[in-house]
Amino acid sequence: MTWDYKHEPFTDFSDSTNQAAFKEALALVKKELGKEYPIVIGGKKIFTEDKIVSENPSNHKEIVGYVSKASRDHAEQAHEAAQEAFKTWKTWSAESRSAILFRAAGLIRKRKHEFSAYLVYEAGKPWKEADADTAEGIDFLEYYGRQMLSLKDGVKIHSREQVEHNQYNYIPLGVGVTISPWNFAFAIMAGTTIAPVVAGNTVLLKPASTTPVIAYKFMEILEEAGLPAGVVNFIPGSGSEIGDYLVDHPKTAFVNFTGSKDVGVRIYERAAKVHPGQKWFKRVAIEMGGKDTIIVDNDSNIETAVQSIVQSAFGFSGQKCSACSRAVIHEDVYDEVLEKVVAETEKLTVGDPTDYTNYMGPVNDQAAFDKVKQYIEIGSSEGKLMVGGTGDNSTGYFVNPTVFADVAPDARLMQEEIFGPVVAFSKAKDFDHLLEIANNTEYGLTGAIISNNREHLERARHEFHVGNLYFNRSCTGAIVGYQPFGGFNMSGTDSKAGGPDHLLLFLQPKTVSDAL
Ligand code: GLU
Repeated sequence: MTWDYKHEPFTDFSDSTNQAAFKEALALVKKELGKEYPIVIGGKKIFTEDKIVSENPSNHKEIVGYVSKASRDHAEQAHEAAQEAFKTWKTWSAESRSAILFRAAGLIRKRKHEFSAYLVYEAGKPWKEADADTAEGIDFLEYYGRQMLSLKDGVKIHSREQVEHNQYNYIPLGVGVTISPWNFAFAIMAGTTIAPVVAGNTVLLKPASTTPVIAYKFMEILEEAGLPAGVVNFIPGSGSEIGDYLVDHPKTAFVNFTGSKDVGVRIYERAAKVHPGQKWFKRVAIEMGGKDTIIVDNDSNIETAVQSIVQSAFGFSGQKCSACSRAVIHEDVYDEVLEKVVAETEKLTVGDPTDYTNYMGPVNDQAAFDKVKQYIEIGSSEGKLMVGGTGDNSTGYFVNPTVFADVAPDARLMQEEIFGPVVAFSKAKDFDHLLEIANNTEYGLTGAIISNNREHLERARHEFHVGNLYFNRSCTGAIVGYQPFGGFNMSGTDSKAGGPDHLLLFLQPKTVSDAL
């Protein structure tokens, strides 16, 4: 490891050697499809009767894996294993804990395309998106490893000469629960597991039910890297059976969640309740949805606006909490931007993501397909359908990229998170109006402003109320250590994944005052 952190480079797929290597990885993973996977408690691999069936969203007849499902008893056993492991893991030096992360990053890097290929099959990611997801997972390991090293000696505080010597150090919290999403099935799963772990905590990992296989592959890496048994326990299972149980558990110290607003609010409320035998207040880091806006000023680069909207709305079929689902355009350039976005959208190809030429793959599952379809119906009464609006779930859950024009700022399409390839256009009369519409949702995750007017950019810096604001570019694609990520308002607790304060969420500072 070198001290300087640089993000993992993205693969250049225009290079035929890289294309061939990726195809090879797809072929390798194809042979692995349909295997059975265990839960892991205290290092023990347990195969259960009850299985989560992980299917390929591009082809629902193809099973990616049968993953053992943890019961409430397993959840309790895993909690006990994590409590036991905490006793020793917390005594490891920061250097030794970080070293495991750097080893894990190196091991993944050596098999990078294989991990990405799992994401193509299990999450329906196009090559580029899968490659970025794997790269981000590596980045979290490299970045948090370094962050821990910078915190290991605490922070300097003042001492009184001839009276006392004072020290300020960080110690871990205990056992925590990580509940991770399917949309960044590798990166966010790995990041939300490993951040508390490098800080000295132990974790119960409950991965998303549609993407448990890639999470198991990560467990294999952690074991190979030398992470002691019980530090991360792998317990896929249902939210109602084990999720609530673990959140309520009196020995749970923290919950690290990324997912939907409904589940996030539920966790926040439940974690606040103090149960018999509980000796602390639980910490929660909760990252939920977004209703993210790109605003386009009258004096702006129209090509940048068009590319930013199309990429942010339709990359990974809009299934990012950072996705642009609202394009708010100054009336002077509204028609031009809309027309060009529609023309670009018409060129996008949708289909099986194993085929590199497809820009978009499927949406996650039947529930996602139904939800997007429902919003397309709502959109048809709230705005003018310009392109898309159709889908086909006969083989996989495919939805065509969809643009609605002339939608009112308070319409449902402009207020509710869809998590699919749908973008709504609204017209604004001036710059104040652009900002007013941008801020009129309950969320506050990402946003972008396309403008050549420096004064307007400066106003946006202060008045566009989102956790991640971008000038003259897309509103997706935050990079670990470069754009720490997290949102305001009902987007979550602004935990800033991949940022300099993140590990503090899983640490408690302790002051020791030594009298002379
Ligand atoms: N960090 C991702 C981005 O900047 C989004 C994460 C998410 O969708 O949960 O695009």
